[in-house]
Amino acid sequence: MEAPHRRIGIMGGTFDPIHNGHLVAASEVADLFSLDEVVFVPTGQPWQKDDVKVAPAEDRYLMTVIATASNPRFHVSRVDIDRNGPTYTVDTLRDLRRVYGPEAELYFITGADALARILSWKDADQIFTLAHFVGVTRPGFELSDAHLPADTVSLVQVPAMAISSTDCRQRVAAGKPIWYLVPDGVVQYIAKRHLYR
Ligand code: ATP
Ligand code: MG
Repeated sequence: MEAPHRRIGIMGGTFDPIHNGHLVAASEVADLFSLDEVVFVPTGQPWQKDDVKVAPAEDRYLMTVIATASNPRFHVSRVDIDRNGPTYTVDTLRDLRRVYGPEAELYFITGADALARILSWKDADQIFTLAHFVGVTRPGFELSDAHLPADTVSLVQVPAMAISSTDCRQRVAAGKPIWYLVPDGVVQYIAKRHLYR
């Protein structure tokens, strides 16, 4: 009997820092779509001058590893960090297709805000041939698949986590706690590396 095709979730993000909203979204989609694993893919370092405030890629990568280490189905990929230049999702999907092989079923997970911007992404028309897209609810944003191809996009409700990396960074800068917004190990890593001060 033929082995069933592997079902792989892909969670792309800046992860500056990774927080519990990312983790809950990934966990919920993994359950709803019976995924074998979810691979978190931190973006490469933005090359635009006005984005220099983003933490170094290695710090964002390590926080993502720390946050996902205890879940046997969660993994982290360096494909975007190790590729030169700006990160485009079309490149992420092509690279991961190579990693997981032609038989794998890829599910790209995006929050409502990112889903709304998808048509502005590079090679938007091709993107939908490379993976199934799963849009998840996010407090403060409307989840809609208007103008997106219905056969390759699913919308799902996940537990509402009103958390953003921007808010976490601002909280650290203001000396406010981020306990329970991000995993404990990430709180400690941020303190140890003096990030977001
Ligand atoms: P920033 O404030 O720096 O933009 P962020 O919290 O939006 O950070 P990203 O790394 O930009 O985090 O997001 C990566 C992916 O996770 C995106 O698809 C985004 O929509 C999704 N996401 C982020 N936070 C949540 C959340 N609280 N609930 C659901 N999805 C989320
Ligand atoms: Mg964001």
